[in-house]
Amino acid sequence: MSPVDRAGQQFIGGAWVPSTSSETLPVENPTTTEVLARVARGTKEDADAAVAAAAEAFEGWSTTPMAERVAVLRRAAELLKERADDLARTITEEVGMPLAMSKAVQVGRPIEVLTSLCDAAEALPWVEQVDSTLVVREPLGVVVAITPWNVPLHQTIAKVGAALLAGCAVVHKPSEVAPLSAYALAGVFAEAGLPAGVYNVVTGVGETVGEALIGHSKVDGISFTGSTAVGRHIGAVAAQTVKKVALELGGKGPAVVLRGGDVAKAAAAAAARCFTNSGQVCAALSRLIVPREELATAEKALVDYVNEQVLGDPLDEATTLGPLVSETQRSRVLRLVEAGAAEGARVVVGGPGAAAPDKGYFVAPTVFSDVETSMTIAQTEVFGPVLCILPYDTEEEAVAIANDSEYGLVGAVFGPDDEQSTKVASKLRVGMVGVNGGRINVRAPFGGYRQSGNGREFGVLGIEEFLEVKSMNFPGVDRIVRPAV
Ligand code: NAD
Repeated sequence: MSPVDRAGQQFIGGAWVPSTSSETLPVENPTTTEVLARVARGTKEDADAAVAAAAEAFEGWSTTPMAERVAVLRRAAELLKERADDLARTITEEVGMPLAMSKAVQVGRPIEVLTSLCDAAEALPWVEQVDSTLVVREPLGVVVAITPWNVPLHQTIAKVGAALLAGCAVVHKPSEVAPLSAYALAGVFAEAGLPAGVYNVVTGVGETVGEALIGHSKVDGISFTGSTAVGRHIGAVAAQTVKKVALELGGKGPAVVLRGGDVAKAAAAAAARCFTNSGQVCAALSRLIVPREELATAEKALVDYVNEQVLGDPLDEATTLGPLVSETQRSRVLRLVEAGAAEGARVVVGGPGAAAPDKGYFVAPTVFSDVETSMTIAQTEVFGPVLCILPYDTEEEAVAIANDSEYGLVGAVFGPDDEQSTKVASKLRVGMVGVNGGRINVRAPFGGYRQSGNGREFGVLGIEEFLEVKSMNFPGVDRIVRPAV
């Protein structure tokens, strides 16, 4: 059954059940502005039912041998592969990312993440010995996963895949803006053999379903990806019942070009990371920090990059930049572009009033130069196709500019040699840094410093977010009994 026919339903306890509310929410195609599907506007009662189903399923799943859990998730990865084309199209229709890129990023990446998480579960030290004590890793319990709209399946897999491998039962609240891949995932997990109630999906808005889940007394942990503002609120609410919380929040990624580094190459690499998904990426490199005498070279490289972009229908093969996800997002980005120009940033390309297709939520890619760290455009996460160039005089100043942010998710350094670049990379207060073109690795931890979050996804650390640690103390080394894993 297609998501369109699921209007009004929630996936709870292994079955599609009607929401306790008859209200639905439209899911809009941002290219055509037509309504693609309608999903349930869930209620507190829906959230409570999903938590109860997860709590009931937890005992069985948490005691299922780890090898069996891995086998179920490996089957799910295979099923995602089989359905990759349909999934990519669905996500392109709800998010607006060009289809070829969706296949790689929106679907290919989560399959890679799920497979690597299965490997990590097998490599994880579930039981370690310290003298006559065994340190045993056990599933955290009932976990709530709350995800945003920009890379919906990927963000879901990164947390839900890890939680399931850890042995947790999950209630997932996808973004109301792009919930459709969660519907497909529920079918995939069921077909892969995941027991009823171990993965539940409740659609709806943050103010009702989200609030009911984050404050729920039977929920043991929350994994949230989204804005820093909502992340702060979730942390505060969850603290009342001392839940374990992993937050993956916003970013304002700096790309530092050192003197002697290839400015044009670095600018193109930063642009590729800034304009992907029309800039709606938390790991965007949106601040290019260059030696003052290289400003013109950086500007030219970025103008060339922007001029090569084709804005249009994301289902069209020639398109490189689709629309933003919604009118709300589009008007927010346009306001920030206007603020940049009003505060004195120099428009290199794009800018206020720049032409973009008028049907759909398009925004012309924009590059500002002579940006200063005090400007709104240098500090605020735009989440749109906007890149700032900030000039520096000394290397020390470059590092200070890069670190002058409440965020600390990603960064990059481009320099004339790997050693010097590594030295500067070590000084950046970010959770992930690329050295001379190094890319994000799905087998290594993903997460931020500062207000970009406090959690880590991917690999062994990604699974550990969903584990408790128990010390089992024995009277002597000769009396140790190893529990089943
Ligand atoms: P958002 O914070 O508005 O919403 C994210 C999710 O939280 C949605 O499902 C929403 O319904 C829910 N929510 C909203 N209010 C809630 C509440 N009071 N209680 C519980 N849940 C609530 O974010 P968004 O607009 O969907 O996504 C964009 C943001 O996500 C950007 O800031 C971006 O940087 C961030 N993001 C971070 C990462 C990362 O890994 N660090 C990845 C992607 C996106």
